[in-house]
Order: sequence, then C-alpha cells, then structure tokens
Amino acid sequence: MARKKIVYNFDYDSKFLNEHNVKKLAYDLTHDADTSEKILDCLFTAEVTDEQIAEATGIKLNFVRKILYKFFDAGISNYTRVKDPETQWFTYYWKFDSRKAAKLIEQEYNKHNEEIKETLEYEENNMFFVCPNGCRYAFDEASDFQFICPRCDEKLEYEDNQNIINDIKQLKSAYIVNEE
Ligand SMILES: [Zn+2]
Repeated sequence: MARKKIVYNFDYDSKFLNEHNVKKLAYDLTHDADTSEKILDCLFTAEVTDEQIAEATGIKLNFVRKILYKFFDAGISNYTRVKDPETQWFTYYWKFDSRKAAKLIEQEYNKHNEEIKETLEYEENNMFFVCPNGCRYAFDEASDFQFICPRCDEKLEYEDNQNIINDIKQLKSAYIVNEE
C-alpha cells in the first residue's frame, strides 16, 4: 500500500532545505532509507512521541528510539519534554530541527565541492603514467620507479587524462541547492 505523501515544510529559511536533501542526510546518518524516511514523514506531519511513530509506521519502538537518537545526536531532531502531573512521567515530543539540518547540509555540500575541487586540481596539475594492467602513478612516483610498474613489472606509458578531467568537471554534490 502506498504511503500518504507528506509535504516537507521547513520552519527555517535556507536554500539547502528541501525534501531530497533531508532524506539524503537522514540516510547518511542511518544507512536505512526506508526507516529513516518513515520516521521523517512522522516528524514532518506533527510533533510526535516515539510511541506514536512506532504505531504509525509499524517500526519497533526500540528501533524508532535508536533512529531518533541518531537524528538527535547529529542535531536534526530535538524534543520537548512534558511531565504528566499525575504520574510524574515525562513524554517526549519529537520534531525536526530545520535550522541545524540546514547547517549540516550546507557543511556536507561544501565538503563535497571541496573534494571535487581538490581532485580536479590534482588531475590538472599532475602528469600520469599507466601500465597495461591499469595501475596508475603520478609523474614523481612513476619517475621513482623508472617508469616500470612495481606491481606488474610492465612499462609505464604517459596517459592523457583529459577525459578524467572532463568527468570530474561534471561531478556535483549529492545535495541540491534550491533555486532562488
Ligand atoms: Zn601495473
């Protein structure tokens, strides 16, 4: 049965906040897309308790708590504690923390772009040599090995890495920035 489509509304304004990024971030934290999306759906529907989430999703309560604390540790969810005046027990109402999530996504986005930039610079600023079996060395290394592959004992040949450079130029962060 298809789940009801939940609208992901954010109470904080950021070009990094969208449903795709939030799901991706949750997945990076939990490595469990289905469970984390079901729990996110609940957090974007209302402030909910862990029991309500377990009931709504059919996920075991302990597992719901585990995921919520993972979100909490990362900072993308927080809770309000309400004390029952009669039983003195606390109930925890969970919600999504848009502001912190936006910061985290921005950090990850910048990190990805930095990695891509460094990889590109490394390819652009070096000459590479390859053996027939595909082992690959930058010039300094290849020169140290006197242009003989130390693994295969084969001759190292100059490699034109323009295609690799072109491919790297196409790389993008898995996080998407919202259009203005
Ligand atoms: Zn080799």
